[in-house]
Amino acid sequence: MPKKDPAQRVKKKTTERKPRPPRSLVQRKNTSLPISVFENVMKQFDTAAEKLHLDKSILNFIKVPRRCTIVNLPVKMDDGSHRMFTAYRVQHSIARGPAKGGIRFHPDVTLDEVQALASWMTWKCAVVNIPFGGGKGGIVCDPFKLSPSELERLTRRYAADCSDLFGPDSDVPAPDVGSGPQVMSWFMDTYSMRVGHSVPGVVTGKPPVLGGSRGRVEATGRGVVICVREAAKHLGKHLDSCTASVQGFGNVGSISARLLHELGVKVTHISDVHGAIHNPNGIDILNLIKYVEAKKTIVGFPDTEKIDPAKVLTAKVDILIPAALENQITKKNARQIKCKILAEGANGPTTPEADVILDKKGILVVPDILANAGGVTVSYFEWVQNRIGYFWSEEEVNRRLEEKMVTSFDDVMRVAIKHDVSMRIAAFMLAITRVVEVVQLRGIYA
Ligand code: GLU
Repeated sequence: MPKKDPAQRVKKKTTERKPRPPRSLVQRKNTSLPISVFENVMKQFDTAAEKLHLDKSILNFIKVPRRCTIVNLPVKMDDGSHRMFTAYRVQHSIARGPAKGGIRFHPDVTLDEVQALASWMTWKCAVVNIPFGGGKGGIVCDPFKLSPSELERLTRRYAADCSDLFGPDSDVPAPDVGSGPQVMSWFMDTYSMRVGHSVPGVVTGKPPVLGGSRGRVEATGRGVVICVREAAKHLGKHLDSCTASVQGFGNVGSISARLLHELGVKVTHISDVHGAIHNPNGIDILNLIKYVEAKKTIVGFPDTEKIDPAKVLTAKVDILIPAALENQITKKNARQIKCKILAEGANGPTTPEADVILDKKGILVVPDILANAGGVTVSYFEWVQNRIGYFWSEEEVNRRLEEKMVTSFDDVMRVAIKHDVSMRIAAFMLAITRVVEVVQLRGIYA
């Protein structure tokens, strides 16, 4: 094992910077989110940028979003009434290619959050070295309380009202929390109708019959599990003797759990929005997936005990996968986290304060901008397949994903060891270096 191992390092006394005021254009509406997520990204950025000793004016240029759009969308509801929905699209960076990132449908979406998520996309795309910048969209709504036709009208209105932003060469959305292949199909159709011909490359995460990539649905979870496998290898651990806990059982959580189970990992704790379950001998994941399809929740699954959802994060397991929302691991619970490997399936689940605590505890944290980059990597493959009009087999997609994830994991680990920093700071350092290189070559247009 290398001497300066990120998982083994004893953290030296850090000089923490004073938090800067949020740069959101609009204050967050939902004060139940205790921490500004955009502030968190900026702290992560600052900590990494400080180590790189780069030109401050370029750092300031690449740190903040290029463009934030706010729209209020009138949508006709099934009962004939009209409702307004606030929505956002943030293009954080277009330096390395089109802005790339999903559209989140969630009642707590704020501009602060969308700016943070767009920024993470910039760094994520740079970490896995794909030719995209970073973007994100958000619509303030509860998609589970809308009928399919209301959801369709809302999606189409969003696509239409922001259509100047979107395009295969300018800004390419994808699924995120609360959206999936059907929403992407409506989006693709609306854009295509406006320009008069089919443009599959305007959005990724489409169903394969509409030009989507095989393997896209599973890609994020697959990438998470590749990172877990590489991290275990790094620590000299055998997966078939490991236990795991997964927070969230949506697309990322359920696929990560299934693939871990296939590798012989005993998944003992799982939560979803309704509650959490536990079985010390391992939960039967394949039957749980079938159960959730029917019941829409993991709660009540046979041979499991219902537990406090907070315990899913603090359980004594080898592997922890937070695959829900931001700000789940904070300074309040970080000391109780007992895993050896923490792979972030969600974006931003760990706050910068918690990061310092986890680092001191010697937990190997595989950061979101690496761990969950499998999704956008296969989105890139989808975009490429749309451009060439030729489609790869699932094996081909998975082989290329495997190669990208392993190379990126190694790249980040190398920086972490060289600079004696956590994998998160290393991933940011690598990403910032790649974005700065492009910005310096392109220069600033005046
Ligand atoms: N929403 C996903 C993410 O946060 C995927 C984005 C994409 O495929 O463009 O990475």
